[in-house]
Amino acid sequence: MLEIKNLHVKLEAEDKAILKGVDLTIEPGKVHAIMGPNGSGKSTLSYVLSGRDGYEVTEGSVTLEGEDILEMEPEERAAAGLFLAFQYPVEIPGVGNMTFLRTAVNAQRKARGQDEMSAAEFLKVIREKAKTLQIDADMLKRPVNVGFSGGEKKRNEILQMAMLEPKMCILDETDSGLDVDAMKLVSEGVNALRDAGRSFLVITHYQRLLDHIKPDVVHIMAEGRIIKTGGPDLALEVEKNGYADLLAEAGAA
Ligand code: ADP
Ligand code: MG
Ligand code: MG
Repeated sequence: MLEIKNLHVKLEAEDKAILKGVDLTIEPGKVHAIMGPNGSGKSTLSYVLSGRDGYEVTEGSVTLEGEDILEMEPEERAAAGLFLAFQYPVEIPGVGNMTFLRTAVNAQRKARGQDEMSAAEFLKVIREKAKTLQIDADMLKRPVNVGFSGGEKKRNEILQMAMLEPKMCILDETDSGLDVDAMKLVSEGVNALRDAGRSFLVITHYQRLLDHIKPDVVHIMAEGRIIKTGGPDLALEVEKNGYADLLAEAGAA
């Protein structure tokens, strides 16, 4: 699904290398998690995948189902099936949540050569999905994320994800700032989207999210590289022992 090969990235402004050879292959239907200390480059990886300005790829490649996404504009990446949920979801004053979603869904369908969803069909689908995420009618009408609490923003992002039906979903610290109930809702929303044709990359600082969204593969990132890959047990090991041993091991290798 997603193949990252020897990815090197630097900040455009500072000539500072941040990613120093990331290799990652995510198969269809799998959930991969990335954990790692603060400042290891996890968010940078998600920004680069989304096509955000300010980063320069100096080496390596990223393909989604065999297509080079680094050459694509952010909208083209989305149309190709990539979805990113960020730690700090953006607010869009003046644009109603439902209007925004309907525009996004129809743009996506157009890019995929599908007909627009009718207003009635859209309403039916969004109401159904919003209900499971406990997003009420009022939240659907308000401007996107404006005045939403942290938990509401995260749930709203999962709603966007559910509506867009992406193939590759990337969640960067979706759990940060969430209380236990909100984390459960978000996790249930993600789990409901798990499917043989859809993959996930879950970036998290804490193991607890992975109690709810069970990963198939866990990677540890440090200093701009993936230093260890394992099964779900690796997350438990980190929770218990911290990163120090793994860093030392990688440094010695
Ligand atoms: P993580 O998400 O793992 O905590 P980040 O990707 O946010 O790590 O950051 C990796 C490193 O790159 C950090 O040292 C951070 O300070 C630096 N960095 C990332 N983006 C910028 C930026 N726009 N300006 C300056 N430094 C940055
Ligand atoms: Mg950080
Ligand atoms: Mg981060």
